[in-house]
Amino acid sequence: MTAPVFRFAPSPNGYLHLGHALSAYVNFELARAAGGTMLLRIEDIDEARCKPEFEQAIFEDLAWLGIEWQQPVRRQSEHFEAYRAALAKLDAQKLLYLSFESRAEIAALVAERERHGPWPRDPDGAPIYPGSAKSLSAADRARRMAAGEPYALRLDMAAAIARAGAIAWQETGQGPHGENGTIPADPAVWGDVVLARKETPTSYHLAVVVDDAIQGVTHVVRGQDLFRATGVHRLLQVLLGLPALVYHHHRLVLEADGHKLAKSTQATGLRELRAQGLKPSDIRRLIGLS
Ligand code: GLU
Repeated sequence: MTAPVFRFAPSPNGYLHLGHALSAYVNFELARAAGGTMLLRIEDIDEARCKPEFEQAIFEDLAWLGIEWQQPVRRQSEHFEAYRAALAKLDAQKLLYLSFESRAEIAALVAERERHGPWPRDPDGAPIYPGSAKSLSAADRARRMAAGEPYALRLDMAAAIARAGAIAWQETGQGPHGENGTIPADPAVWGDVVLARKETPTSYHLAVVVDDAIQGVTHVVRGQDLFRATGVHRLLQVLLGLPALVYHHHRLVLEADGHKLAKSTQATGLRELRAQGLKPSDIRRLIGLS
C-alpha cells in the first residue's frame, strides 16, 4: 500500500483565521499519525478575489503554527487545462449544458417562483437553479454562442445521477448531525451545479475533485461546512473515473454567536492574534486542541 496523502487547501482571498488553524492542525496530525504526507494547495480560481499577498500570508501563518507540507505547492490558477479536460469528459457523456443567464436573471426567476410558494434551497441556503437552459433549442444555443454571449456550464444532475447510480463515501470524521461510516451521497440537493463559470473555466467542485486525483490525495480532511458538498464530489469522481477518497469532516470553530468565522473578522485572524503576542500554543488552546 502506498503512503496516505493528505492536503490542506485554503483560498487566498483573505487572511487565515482560527478555523483554518484547526483544519491545518487536524490535517497535519492525522497525516503524521497515518505515516503519510501533507500537501498544500492554493485554491485561487476566483482571480478577482484572490491576491498574492494572501497566498504569502498563508505560507507564513502555517509555518508559524508549526505546520509542514511537501513541495511543490499546487496553485489551481496554473491548471485550467486539467479542468477543461475533465469538462470535455463530462461533455462527451452529454452531462453538461450551457446556461447563459446572468445572476440577476436567475434571481428574478427565483423571485418569480417564490411568488407561488417556497422554492427549494441547497444545503448552503442558495436557491436551486430555476432556469430552463437545459431545454434551449440547438438553434438558440448556436446563435447565442456565435454572438459571443458568455455562458456557464451546468451539470445535468438528473442525468448524472442516472448514469452514476447509487453512490456513497467513507467518512471517518462526522457530519453536522454526527453522521459517519458509509454515507450515501445525495448530490440532487444541489440541483444543476455550475462546473465552469462564465469568468473562469472551472468551479470549486470540479477543481477540487480533479486536483485531489492529480495530486494522489487519499484523505480529505476539512470542515463540516463541506460535508454535504462531498456528495457532488463523489458523483464527479464516479463520472470521471477517479478513485474514491476517505473523507474526514471536522467540527467548525464558531463565533461566540454561533456563526461561521469570516475571513474579514480580525478578532480571529491569525496575524492579528500573533501581533497581539499570542503563541501557537495559545492558538491551540483557543481552538480546543491540547
Ligand atoms: N478551498 C476551500 C476553502 O477554503 C477548501 C476546499 C476543500 O478542502 O475541499 O474552504
